[in-house]
Amino acid sequence: MSEEISEIKPDPHGSFVSPGTLYLVATPIGNLADITQRAISVLGQVDIIAAEDTRHSQRLLSFLGIRSKLLAYHEHNEERMTAKLLAELAAGKSIALISDAGTPLISDPGYRLVTQGHDNEIDIVPVPGVCAAITALSAAGLATDAFTFEGFPPAKQGARLHFFEPLAQQQRTMIFYVSCHKIIDTLKDMQEVFGSDRRVTFARELTKTFETIKRMRLSDLISWVEGDKNQRKGEIVLVVEGAEAAAEDTAQIDYYLSTLLAELPVKQSVKLVVKLTGENKNDVYKRALELKDD
Ligand code: SAM
Repeated sequence: MSEEISEIKPDPHGSFVSPGTLYLVATPIGNLADITQRAISVLGQVDIIAAEDTRHSQRLLSFLGIRSKLLAYHEHNEERMTAKLLAELAAGKSIALISDAGTPLISDPGYRLVTQGHDNEIDIVPVPGVCAAITALSAAGLATDAFTFEGFPPAKQGARLHFFEPLAQQQRTMIFYVSCHKIIDTLKDMQEVFGSDRRVTFARELTKTFETIKRMRLSDLISWVEGDKNQRKGEIVLVVEGAEAAAEDTAQIDYYLSTLLAELPVKQSVKLVVKLTGENKNDVYKRALELKDD
């Protein structure tokens, strides 16, 4: 541990919370060591912890030796509990909001509490930490300068295709949360709308024992997930290349191929392009034949 980090180690006797303040505390998405020191201090000192699933959060809190009062705050009691928690905050209580995993409000409850907290001039303090979307994006090997978070696509196919259609021309990298039970259907619908060549990073079980991160063309990804049932288990984030990057990518491969095909046989051209770009050999071969026919 560096000097700098040891200097900011929280003093267990110091105060990390203020009265009447709502803390939005990120918790791990798998590896418990990803909890921050500040999160531990805040959770240990607040008057109330509002948790999405109290039984689930109790395990984390017991592991951390935290005994703060725990209340349930989830989509089915959000309206009633928002009023109750705002009243507690107005009375000077400090509250930490946590979800089952990761950052509260990111595809998790809390929006109503935070917006109404602002309306009521409650101090709102984020205690940042892990978020599956950002964790996946950082390791995706796709453009990170501009991206969108699209949450969970709809469960039914018709609605899902409608959801993807306006995104086909989106130039930014897109991040989706996908249930493992819907992964094949979702990838197939993505292929229908975005095309088989679009690169997608499949990020499964992040920070856990079976963490898997693979970037592939949609067609290859579908075959790979279909061929390995283990890839259809656990929690999954899909990071999808934006339209412009995909077009640039294809244009670059076409440029290499057509330059080489003018001088060399198909087999040798394909071999060199695969070496230069790291692209899938079958895809490059298929494209080489198309260009040759043209
Ligand atoms: N609030 C959380 C966050 O900050 O990431 C997200 C909660 S959302 C209900 C749960 C979804 O997040 C999962 O279905 C999956 O798409 C993604 N997710 C959560 N943990 C993950 C992990 N360890 N690996 C991959 N995806 C994960």
